[in-house]
Amino acid sequence: MTHNTLISPKVQELQPYQPGEQPQSGGLLKLNTNENPYPPSPRVIERICAEAAADRSLALYPDPESERLCETIAACHGLARDQVFVGNGSDEILAHAFCAFFQHGNAGLLIPDVTYNFYKVYCRLFGIRAELVPVDAGLRIDLDAFAAAARACGDIAGVVVANPNAPTGEGLPLAAVQRLLTMNPSRVVLVDEAYVDFGGQSAIGLVAQYPNLLVVQTLSKSRALAGLRVGFAIGQPALIEALQRVKNSFNSYPLGRLAQAGAMAAFDDQPYFEQTRQAIMATRGWLSAKLIALGFEVLPSQANFVFARHPRYDAQQLAARLREANILVRHFRQARIEQFLRITVGTDEQAGHLVQVLEQVLANVPTDPRRTAEA
Ligand code: PMP
Repeated sequence: MTHNTLISPKVQELQPYQPGEQPQSGGLLKLNTNENPYPPSPRVIERICAEAAADRSLALYPDPESERLCETIAACHGLARDQVFVGNGSDEILAHAFCAFFQHGNAGLLIPDVTYNFYKVYCRLFGIRAELVPVDAGLRIDLDAFAAAARACGDIAGVVVANPNAPTGEGLPLAAVQRLLTMNPSRVVLVDEAYVDFGGQSAIGLVAQYPNLLVVQTLSKSRALAGLRVGFAIGQPALIEALQRVKNSFNSYPLGRLAQAGAMAAFDDQPYFEQTRQAIMATRGWLSAKLIALGFEVLPSQANFVFARHPRYDAQQLAARLREANILVRHFRQARIEQFLRITVGTDEQAGHLVQVLEQVLANVPTDPRRTAEA
């Protein structure tokens, strides 16, 4: 950014997160931002319409603390209301959490080097030093490297992991999360479970035992509500109260009435939730097998996306060719993963179309000599 005295110096230095392309016109198969290919439960639509139609509803501010939604989430997970916090998407909760828990002078926040890129952005926003912990050669989170980093740093600001990790899709067993918690008892360990409903193991059951655990989930993926913007966090009351302090120093009403009503309805329809997440996991198995048959290396995924690379074709070029065929996938120009594509698992039909187009693309794209030498 060019220097402008009207703008705070810190803001001039920010490097914001770049979300995947969100085209406003139709006709594209969107497999680039891990949205759910199915619509939300019909009950969600009914409740949102009823809320919007209720007398004066939208003229009045919503409940600032989303009490009924927090109670619904608590009941769904067998927790108390004071163990639940909700926010305008889990991104907002992550921002509040970084502010509430990780600003400890120059202490470094331990984050895998390959993970959700927003964590580094929040570090810059809040002036937190990110201490990147390398994932192993298979792009798996390396617990020994976390232990070594914690020892080397001395005072750490906390730990953040996504489980399953993004963009790799790898799920950590609960024993690994427990190891992170016991390794760092005096700092918060934030476990971002955005994709946990697609086969991961949730740490919510550990919250009673670990005062330093904060679990963050979202309704954007498994509940098909990315457009409504609702996320939630689970932790012991002291952590929840800290999040409320930050939230109430930032925006009293993060969730509108329609979001609160729709989110509650989503938790009321467990059969629909089960059916759609099972369908996505089944399609993921099919898609992974097809990609492997086309010669891709596909990392094992417990998320609603797969992370794959081809030993002979350049990933950026493949993404560009798919784009020409109206299919969006995500490619990161980033060290260690620049030859991978992250592909959202769609419906069976969408996955079938992707495979068909990929077959044609692979038949027409020249192999990349650098990749061929590597392979
Ligand atoms: N965490 C991870 C790992 C994600 O991939 C995403 C989605 N981009 C989020 C959090 C944020 O999701 P949302 O704000 O839609 O809840």
